[in-house]
Amino acid sequence: MIFLHDFGIGIEEYEKKGKKNNFPLFKWCPNCQAIAYGNLHRHGYYWRYGINQEEELHIPICRFRCLVCQVTISILPSFLIPYFQHTLDTMMERLSSVLKGEKVKGSRQQLEQHLKRFYESIHWTHSFFTDAGYQLGFTKDIKKEAQKYVTMIQDFGESTSFFRRSWGHLSSYFMGKLILPYLPPKKNTIHPT
Ligand SMILES: [Zn+2]
Repeated sequence: MIFLHDFGIGIEEYEKKGKKNNFPLFKWCPNCQAIAYGNLHRHGYYWRYGINQEEELHIPICRFRCLVCQVTISILPSFLIPYFQHTLDTMMERLSSVLKGEKVKGSRQQLEQHLKRFYESIHWTHSFFTDAGYQLGFTKDIKKEAQKYVTMIQDFGESTSFFRRSWGHLSSYFMGKLILPYLPPKKNTIHPT
């Protein structure tokens, strides 16, 4: 399962720190709630790419494994969207540019896929903001709606706060297709420092 974690830093600093990042410690298994002590073990890293506006960075993702439920837990930094290489900030900037008709560098095909996914998930995004107390209509002009929500997401607070706040809404997440497994309460983690 994926556990979203705010490291409080951007991808560039995360890459520099590599395996020395301040990874969270759990009090209990986020999947089965078994007490972490003696049950939840560090399970190495896998490496993935993260793309910001300038470059492609290679970063480690820390994993845990629970001896009780056998689930592997990956600690995803909250500047990344599951299964996408572009960081959240970069994704939003690219979507914002393409919706304004501006030129965006990189693969056109990939950009169109991202835009398509954003359109597909726009009702989910609308639903999150409505639940959060915003009074919002929804018109038939999908492009206009998309521009509206890109701006709202970018204005929501610090870069990843929309993403973290909306994680788990209707058992899904921003740009996601998958239904998430049980989401742990936020107080589960302890920082070593
Ligand atoms: Zn477990």
